[in-house]
Amino acid sequence: MSRHAPALRDQNPVFIPGPTNMPEALRHAMNTPTSDHRARDFAEFLGPLLADLKTVFKTETGQIVTFPGSGTGGWEAAVSNTLSPGDKVLIARYGMFSHRWIDLCQRHGLDVEIIDCVWGTGAPADRFGERLGADADHTIKAVLVTHNETATGVKSDIGAVRAAMNAAGHPALLMVDAVSSLASMDFRMDDWGVDLAVTGSQKGFMLATGIAIVGVSQKAMAAMETATLPRTYFDFRDMTQANARGGYPYTPPLQLLHGLRASVDMLMAEGLDNVFARHHRMAEGVRRAVAAWGMKLCAAEPSLYSDTVSAIYVPDGFDSNRLTDHAYDTYGMSFGVGLGQMNGRAFRIGHLGSLTEPMALSGLATIEMAMADLGYPITLGSGVAAAQEFWRAGGKVAAAQAAA
Ligand SMILES: *Cc1c(COP(=O)(O)O)cnc(C)c1O
Repeated sequence: MSRHAPALRDQNPVFIPGPTNMPEALRHAMNTPTSDHRARDFAEFLGPLLADLKTVFKTETGQIVTFPGSGTGGWEAAVSNTLSPGDKVLIARYGMFSHRWIDLCQRHGLDVEIIDCVWGTGAPADRFGERLGADADHTIKAVLVTHNETATGVKSDIGAVRAAMNAAGHPALLMVDAVSSLASMDFRMDDWGVDLAVTGSQKGFMLATGIAIVGVSQKAMAAMETATLPRTYFDFRDMTQANARGGYPYTPPLQLLHGLRASVDMLMAEGLDNVFARHHRMAEGVRRAVAAWGMKLCAAEPSLYSDTVSAIYVPDGFDSNRLTDHAYDTYGMSFGVGLGQMNGRAFRIGHLGSLTEPMALSGLATIEMAMADLGYPITLGSGVAAAQEFWRAGGKVAAAQAAA
């Protein structure tokens, strides 16, 4: 229970890595009256929306399907439409989200081959390449990669995984969890040869939870012809055929789709490159603060740093759950807890979606107060000052240092 009245507390931004803060304009865009989803104007609305989503996924050859659901539903759609019971899939585990995707595959009766990696590292393209190179009769049907592991704040190199697959001459499908990267960090479905790209409405798109959005390549569409895992609600064929006629196979989440229309417009108006640059600037300021506190990121090295979430180890002897509870109870501000083996050892600052520097400064200042209250060895204002210096310089400090 927060010491602030809920109506006041709810004005604070959240620093969890999804659901993310909603811009007022998007919240209002979702406030639409009921309308008839079988009327012609729905068809006129849906077609251009799906077409514009392709731009966000950076695909010209693929198709976009949307389902009422969350990102997890998108995983299920990707797997159940393209694979058959007993199919072998290859996946690396380096955090809670890759772990959960493994669980979903196992429950679908797939033969899941796991490459276990140290949490804090990313997708091991070289180990994928080795394994695929040894799979001469192509028993591996799909390679599954979590682009941005939200549990550890690690971004993986999808292009490198694709290159390893190509070098091995392997025809497996490439499925990518882009739930916490799409529309906030660069994602290139076509360039990286991604066959299935999964996201949800409540992260980079800054909306309420409730739409799973999946990019599907032509190769993945073809795989559907022979894939025999059961699917009904998430059937790509039902969805794409209904979409082609301008509708949904069942009742669409109308208000969310209106929100999605406004979100895509907002992203396009800013320009995707500017969206990515903004996320990088936001993340880099947060990382400066973490360094000023003398604390460490879970991500093992700079090339792996996520621009959407930072997972931060607390010093030995401290419990990160107490910190996140205290920040919420005392100051009414939410930060991400440590997940899985990070539980108690790390907390997370989500910095994706709708955030400005002043909003982010309020988060850094608040977590500093919470840390000071609990006796952490930090100096109040140190992280805030480091971020201020960086943002005050327009985020140019990073560029100067990178060039040096
Ligand atoms: C949030 C998230 C998910 C789960 O998505 P839901 O919308 O909660 O079902 C999956 N993968 C990653 C990387 C995520 O960040």
